[in-house]
Amino acid sequence: MAENKHYRVIILGSGPAGLTAAIYTARAGLKPLVLEGNEPGGQLTITTEVENYPGFPQGIQGPQLMQDMREQAVRFGAETKFEMATEADFSKRPFVVKTDSEAYTADAVIIATGASARWLGLESEKRLMGKGVSACATCDGFFYKNKEVIVVGGGDSAMEEATFLTKFAKKVTVVHRRDQFRASKIMIKKAEENPKIEFALNKVVTEILGDEFVTGVRLKDTKTGEETEIAVDGVFMAIGHKPNTSIFKGQIDMDETGYINTVPGSTKTNIEGVFACGDVQDKVYRQAITAAGTGCMAALDTEKFLESAQ
Ligand code: NAP
Repeated sequence: MAENKHYRVIILGSGPAGLTAAIYTARAGLKPLVLEGNEPGGQLTITTEVENYPGFPQGIQGPQLMQDMREQAVRFGAETKFEMATEADFSKRPFVVKTDSEAYTADAVIIATGASARWLGLESEKRLMGKGVSACATCDGFFYKNKEVIVVGGGDSAMEEATFLTKFAKKVTVVHRRDQFRASKIMIKKAEENPKIEFALNKVVTEILGDEFVTGVRLKDTKTGEETEIAVDGVFMAIGHKPNTSIFKGQIDMDETGYINTVPGSTKTNIEGVFACGDVQDKVYRQAITAAGTGCMAALDTEKFLESAQ
């Protein structure tokens, strides 16, 4: 059997958290291996212009930003591979991480596998992603000045995103599949009191309309089965996120929704030598800049751990 390839630190994930951790650990001389995962560059690669990442006064395209972060990490000695971790064993050190093609060992692991927005699963949704379909109002809301949009969902995210979008859009319709909301009362009240927000209840989106850009949606009433079409410029999904933690189940402490628990104020998990940063441990802020910030923290925590473990 081929010998495992050993690294001081393996970073799982290549979004802003993973690549920032890579830049810092590489500059510390740790020669990290970054396993980029299924979506190299992470969620920013499915957005278009990023206008809120500091340092880019004119904005930057999401994929470009991620490519630049990768180049920066590689420049300092990080190794990146287009491989997806499929198995991890944290029961003893060195830790073992397997992909479809290789097995690696590491003295420390940084988990930056992120979270994925939940999508409806429509072909039209996929086709128009970044062309009117988004899962991040904070990122893309600005492009909908004086336009009409819908927000799909009935949880706190839907209420929050709808309220946020009224800063730009002239009308926001919350489309929810039931007539009861999962969101907290206070968030619902805030949305209900907003004159720019309307509600389409007991409705599901069956089709997103538009060739090059979103022009509308087809809705189906869940009670009567009746279908209607409304003209909108944007469709914001707020039907939840799913942390990418399935391969760590049973090995690492998580909350009831699968987000990794970290020691407050650090990126330490319950396993010494395994750190978590970015959206995989953050269901509150979920921004590229906060992910990058915790990626930096994870690198510094890792450096300290490796020094003390020597
Ligand atoms: P969530 O609470 O899981 O709500 C998801 C919503 O999407 C639900 O209303 C659900 O409908 C709907 N949904 C799910 N799958 C769907 C599908 N395939 N088609 C149509 N609708 C679908 O998710 P979230 O709103 O993102 O919130 C996640 C967590 O973060 C919650 O704990 C929330 O309190 C928290 N959060 C807090 C704040 C805040 O306090 N500021 C802001 C955002 C999020 P059903 O209700 O019918 O299941």
